[in-house]
Amino acid sequence: MESLSRFAQEKLEELAQRGLLREIIPTDRHEAMTADRAGRPVVSFCDNDYLGLSQHPDVRQAAADAASDLGAGSGASRLISGSLPLNDAVEAQLAKMKGTEAAVLFGSGYLTNVGVIPVLSGPGDLILMDALCHNCLFAGAQLSQAKVMVFEHNDLSHLRSLLKDFRSDYHHTMIIVDGVYSMDGDLAPLPDISVLALEFDAWLMSDDAHGLGVLGGGRGTAFAFDDEVQVPLQMGTLSKSVGSYGGYLCADRPIIDLIKNRARSLVYTTGLPPAVLAASLKALQIIEEDEELCARPLALARSFTNALNLPDAQSSIVPVIIGDPETTLQASQKLLEAGLLVSAIRPPTVPEGTSRLRITFSATHRPEDIDHLIKSIRELDLLK
Ligand SMILES: *Cc1c(COP(=O)(O)O)cnc(C)c1O
Repeated sequence: MESLSRFAQEKLEELAQRGLLREIIPTDRHEAMTADRAGRPVVSFCDNDYLGLSQHPDVRQAAADAASDLGAGSGASRLISGSLPLNDAVEAQLAKMKGTEAAVLFGSGYLTNVGVIPVLSGPGDLILMDALCHNCLFAGAQLSQAKVMVFEHNDLSHLRSLLKDFRSDYHHTMIIVDGVYSMDGDLAPLPDISVLALEFDAWLMSDDAHGLGVLGGGRGTAFAFDDEVQVPLQMGTLSKSVGSYGGYLCADRPIIDLIKNRARSLVYTTGLPPAVLAASLKALQIIEEDEELCARPLALARSFTNALNLPDAQSSIVPVIIGDPETTLQASQKLLEAGLLVSAIRPPTVPEGTSRLRITFSATHRPEDIDHLIKSIRELDLLK
């Protein structure tokens, strides 16, 4: 197997030369976004735990009780015997919050997207995707074998012209967007996109991984606009603001029933464990009840962008674009030395030349930590 190891070694060297080598660093997480990173105490500004619910005492207790009462794992695929009643409770809670007839849970957000898209699209169909859609949406679109076309980020006239030129050549058409773009923190113009989708009989799917719990009073990006938006396929994750793990799709009942029958990443994989489901349920209940908590991440992000004269934050995610990967990495390293964990995002996660610090805000950040971050970024003189 010498050729195999050599292959891997050469690939790694190539990545290292381009400044793109990545490393997994063990990180113990605690309350108030504090953590121990390879033994060093830090405050994290890169978690997606926007409400701090992964550390909430009631959420932890719900997980502990479920593990204690029901066991560690679910034992089988959901279609066999691995669908604990807790799945139904979480699905009902999600459908209620999103205002849909039904919902279905998956093992993760990634599994949701690679499962859902190929059920709804296939050869002879068209998928139109925003250029900055999350990787797993592209993975799902590729698996579907539909024709995939990409429109410029948030460019409605480009989307319209693709629909005009190509819609009639295909059977079904899906339009796929993120609600909040994960590396830029901006929102999809959902009201306008939903009108286009209706006009051209295209099915709109939004991935709201970063909107749930943060926008629209906690209900997500589709609820963040003045008018109600029609998004027939509302997908998201339980791994971010919900602080747990899992993914979901909310939609009309027949769509959900079809997905339960056909999505390969649901049929051929094991159901979520009791502790994870119980944590999700408790966290979703908190999100539904505590609008003040849900408003906090955006308010903190806005206070940060105001202090540094950056464009107003639109979500809990704020990018500080630096450009080349090396400088970005150095900036992240310097912030780490100051006790601030801020991730350097480099290609292929973002386009070449747009390496950035991706800063995320959580309801449980302490004001003094945000002040420290602002001061450190000023001192690094990163903003041109
Ligand atoms: C994180 C993320 C996912 C994946 O969700 P997981 O539950 O972590 O697998 C999907 N889409 C977007 C936009 C994300 O940011």
